Amino acid sequence: MTAILRFAPSPTGRLHIGNLRTALFNWLFAARENGTFVLRFDDTDRERSRREYADLIERDLAWIGIRPHRTARQSERIALYDAAAEKLKSAGLLYPCYETPDELDRKRKRLAARGLPPVYGREALKLSKGERAELEAEGRRPHWRFLLPNFRTEPFSPQRTDLAFDDLIRGETVIDLASLSDPVLIRADGSYLYTLPSVVDDAEMGVTHVIRGDDHVTNTAVQAAIFEALGARVPRFGHHNLLTTVGGEGLSKRSGALALETLRGDGYEPMAVASLAVLVGMSGAIEPMADLEALAARLDFSAISHSASKFDPAELDRLNREIVHQMPYEAVRDRLAAMGVSEREGDAFWQAVRANCDKVPEAKAWAKIVFGEIRVPAPEDEAEREFRAAALRLLPEGEPGPETFKAWTGAIKAETGAKGKALFLPLRRAITGLEHGPELGPLLPLIGRERLVERLKAG
Ligand code: GLU
Repeated sequence: MTAILRFAPSPTGRLHIGNLRTALFNWLFAARENGTFVLRFDDTDRERSRREYADLIERDLAWIGIRPHRTARQSERIALYDAAAEKLKSAGLLYPCYETPDELDRKRKRLAARGLPPVYGREALKLSKGERAELEAEGRRPHWRFLLPNFRTEPFSPQRTDLAFDDLIRGETVIDLASLSDPVLIRADGSYLYTLPSVVDDAEMGVTHVIRGDDHVTNTAVQAAIFEALGARVPRFGHHNLLTTVGGEGLSKRSGALALETLRGDGYEPMAVASLAVLVGMSGAIEPMADLEALAARLDFSAISHSASKFDPAELDRLNREIVHQMPYEAVRDRLAAMGVSEREGDAFWQAVRANCDKVPEAKAWAKIVFGEIRVPAPEDEAEREFRAAALRLLPEGEPGPETFKAWTGAIKAETGAKGKALFLPLRRAITGLEHGPELGPLLPLIGRERLVERLKAG
């Protein structure tokens, strides 16, 4: 059996790292099983869904390296949902309800006052045809609820009905269907909530595994009942823990800081983001994985914590730094070219500066220092002025090469007696204008004689 997985975001905002966690669990599992990955936009909420968001979500996923085998939009598949709704209606499993939100609220409060759980009492199921016609004549439009299979013969006395499933991540999971209200599947304006379309699509697309956040555990019980009512095979479900901010708040599509778009704009590497999205809240080291294939090998559903995990930006910084410090030139060639670093010098430049970059865009400042014009600070005192004059005089003839730094500093040391910090710091200040930075030796051939002379003379 080929594994078929899907990621089903509602296009109502940008993806954040928590959404990516869900997407990757599905993508990596599909990749490991040589299966298929479907990107499905749950866009039946006409008010909040936007095509632009769907396009941006595709771009965010592509940045990570997720390229769906198939993309589907629920808004284009309404006929399938209508057919399923008809089927449920004619089986008496989808019934019209006319309560307004206010009326429902009052019902819930009355139940709470009696110490009862806020479960819908199926009052609308008692309406006669005539009563329904009267309500409609008043201008009320029905919303439709699915009749949960939690009773023997009499829907008004639900009985404990344990729906059990073997969760891929959490193991044996049991939900009592009598503890739930019949879910609304169709709104009064005729639009579908995600519950039914998701089941119809999963069945029609042959989805074999659904990995999603553990905020969906109860939905799974409801949806398993709908699969059965439609005569479809129930996929295998897995519910992963959710990510929160360091402060413990849930991530939302509107909390921009952890949006993939923001992380990309801030210069993070996709594999730093992907590695953390998957490995946080999973036992084992959080380390940067080289690529999605290596990350797939680390996927272990039994190792995922059952409680929420904190997403710590400092961890992302660490992973990113580790990746950048090891990164080969080929991986940054284009980005360096965009900073004006030529192909001829690119490799040597990158080898010289990467250990001083936590993020690739930081290379731009080093490119300016190496290849551009900088303002060298004036000597702090007479001694530094003399030091610079000596350094200029002792600079070996010709264009600097790999050995120049050693020969040059040897000569300066012999003449001025300066050594250690007293030798390297004033040299670094004169050459780069800074007190810290990459090793000077490899920089000299890149800076070139002309700029070196100019800088030693300046100030
Ligand atoms: N659109 C739903 C969500 O974003 C999909 C849940 C699911 O994976 O079934 O929560």
